[in-house]
This record gives sequence, structure tokens and C-alpha cells, in this order.
Amino acid sequence: MRVELLTVGDELLIGDTLNTNGAWMGQELTRAGVEVVRSTVVGDTLKAIGEAVTAALDRADGLIITGGLGPTYDDLTRDALAYLAGVKLVRDPVTEAAIRERSMKYGVRLRESALRMADLPEGSAKLPNPVGTAPGIRMELAGRPVFALPGVPHEMRAIMTETVLPEWRTPAAPAVLTLRTAGVWETVLAGRLAPVERMEGVSLAYLPSPANVDVRITADSPGTLDAAVAKARGLLGQAVYAEGRVTSLAAAVLDLLRERGETVAVAESLTGGLLGAELTAPAGSSAVFRGGVTAYATPLKAALLGVPEDLLAERGAVDPDVAVAMAEGARDRLGATRGLAVTGVAGPDPQDGKPVGTVHIGVCGPEGSRSFTPTLTLPRDGSRARSLVRDMTVVHALDLLRHEVLRVAMIREWEQDQEGLEGLR
Ligand code: AMP
Ligand code: MG
Repeated sequence: MRVELLTVGDELLIGDTLNTNGAWMGQELTRAGVEVVRSTVVGDTLKAIGEAVTAALDRADGLIITGGLGPTYDDLTRDALAYLAGVKLVRDPVTEAAIRERSMKYGVRLRESALRMADLPEGSAKLPNPVGTAPGIRMELAGRPVFALPGVPHEMRAIMTETVLPEWRTPAAPAVLTLRTAGVWETVLAGRLAPVERMEGVSLAYLPSPANVDVRITADSPGTLDAAVAKARGLLGQAVYAEGRVTSLAAAVLDLLRERGETVAVAESLTGGLLGAELTAPAGSSAVFRGGVTAYATPLKAALLGVPEDLLAERGAVDPDVAVAMAEGARDRLGATRGLAVTGVAGPDPQDGKPVGTVHIGVCGPEGSRSFTPTLTLPRDGSRARSLVRDMTVVHALDLLRHEVLRVAMIREWEQDQEGLEGLR
């Protein structure tokens, strides 16, 4: 089934409201095996809505509209649908009673325009709205199914979930799984995954964000998907930090540390608290995250974290050994098993002769300390450099910590295997 989406509202055109309805519907319909072939945005006029509906039904097997079902006179979707079907609008008494009752309950004067939410094109079906007033509409136009849903996102989602998706879900919905990766460039990932790309019935999509790429694997059957995921995981190794789009990198890191009974403290310079914010976003982080020190001014790196003053005087604040000393200071002073620290130049200007995007990450744990200097890819024109540097620094820092914990776990496993072998001798 090939369907189109139509989102209605002047606020969407002028950019006041982000079209999250389009994104959500696209995801859910794809997951349900429905092919979304076009998404159109129009303003609040009868002409624009009418033309868009007619054109969509010329091309696709079905249409979903959101927006323009509200109580004000600029909400024109139902009028457009009635006009196109050549029918009148008929007031639904049940919805009308509900609107009247609501206004009594809340003591607000009933505006005549609010009753328009009870109007339905003659011959259409009312779709119950479990979380709001305006019902959705289902009708046939040009022999094709058309759904009209309110623009309010949670109302749209409720009606989609209860009515539209169950009706359109296909038994052979494609099998889909997303692998979340960090620290590897999109082009490098794509190169490594070429053998998966070549598998019969498998397609890959790359969804990049700074220093972080989600790889969506779509397969024509669950069995093929399992094989593709296994192959991809083999090729990507530890670059994969989670399956599915729910788990953040920070949550994956916290889980790893929690499983091992470890804790972490952070010391931040250029990120000004972003790293701590990420590590405290997942629920339950308090079992693992001890706290953080934002030592932005150079002297505070010595005063609060114990970074040697002569090291700072000699090399400046942006230095790999400073990053390590900051990590050790955070670990020791905040009482964690591991320390993680970042220092660098976010820009827009260079610092101590070091260019924008120079970043050093320090990490320390029971097995020792090390630093890492990631290569950040920045837009050539320098736009958004500052926020990108800060965001990428957070991702690289979390990823370094993750690799460090995994590396140590692998060495411990190997040691235990060796001990086991000793016992057998
Ligand atoms: P409406 O049904 O046109 O009265 O829309 C009600 C409210 O829902 C609007 O004021 C927007 O805030 C929101 N809204 C409408 N369309 C969208 C959309 N496509 N994505 C996200 N929010 C929307
Ligand atoms: Mg509107």
C-alpha cells in the first residue's frame, strides 16, 4: 500500500511549529509495512488543502491528513473534504453534547466555532478521539481511503494507534532493526558494511548525527534480518553500543558500569556540564554517576582538580596530560572508580595557538590512565562549529569510557580463562 501524508497549518509553513507529526507517522507507517511515498505541507486555505488532497489521491492508494480540525475558523480540513466529496457537513450530536458538557464543566463560554469540531462530512465515519475533543474522520474519496486527524500531536498519535495503523498494518511488514554506533565515520561504516548491503532482501540506511551514526537494517523476513544483524555486528564489533533507537550512548555506558559495580566522576572544561547532563539523563544514573566538576577557568583546574600548576603553565589547559590529570582529580576527589575528563577548544577563536576542534579526553580507572585525541569533522565554513565541537566531545568521551571498560573486561575474561587452563594442567 502506497500512501501520502498531508500536514495542514500555516504554523508549519512559517516554521513556528516543527512538523513532528509527519516524522512520527512516517516512522510508524513504515514499521507497519505501509509505504509512505510523499509528504506535503500546506497552509490553512481551502484551495491549498483541496488541491493537495486531489493530487495525492491521483498518485497514491490512500491519504492521511493532520491538522485543520480544530475549533477556529482557520481550521478548514473538514470543509475541504466535504467540498471535494460534494456533500454537506452534518453535526454529530454525540460530539456536540460532549463539547457543550466540557464547556459547562470548565465554566467557559461556549463559542459557536467550537461546535464545528462536531461537524463531519455526510457519509464519513467518526474516529473516536480518546484524549481530546475533535474526532478524526474516515471517508472515501475517488475510491480511496482518506483519514483526517487532529494536528495536536498526542491526539493524532492516539487515533493513529487505535484506528489507522491496525487497519493498514500488513502481515508481511518488513523486519527492521537499528544498530546504534559511536565514534566511526559514516563513510567508514558504510565501507565495512558493504557485505551486508549486498545480501539479498536487505537494505541499509544511515542516520548520522555528530559522531554518532544509527544504521537501520531492513530485511524482507525476520530470518533474513537476524542473519544481517549478526553479520553487521561481526563487522562493526564494539562500535555498536545498542540495538534499537531507545538506548542512548550514556545509558549504555551507565549499564556497563553498573553491571561491574563501578562508578564514574567527570571533569569538564569546554563542555561546561554537558557530559554530566548526558550521564544524568537516564533514570537510575545515581547508582553510577558520582558527580562532576566544571573547571572552565584554567586556575580552577589546579584548585579544584589538583592538576599540577607547572603542567598548566608549561602546556596550557588544552593538553592530553592535563586531560588525564583532570580525570584523576575528579576520580580521587569525588570518590569514583573511574574518572573521565575533557579539555579543548570549542571556538570560535583558537586558544594557546591550538585550532578550534582540538580536543583531549582523559580517562582513568583501576588499570591505569590514558588520553585520547579524537579527530573532529567540522563544517568547512565554520558554521555551528562551537556547538558541534561540544556535542562531539561528549560523544567521544562517553565512547572512550565505554571502550575502556570493555577492553578491561576482555582482559579480565582472558585472565580468568588462563587461570582456568592452569587449573586443568
Ligand atoms: P489543528 O488541528 O490544526 O488545530 O492543530 C492544533 C495544534 O497542533 C497546532 O497549533 C500545532 O501546535 C499542532 N500541530 C499541528 N500540526 C502539527 C504537525 N504537523 N506537527 C506537530 N504539531 C502540529
Ligand atoms: Mg491549524
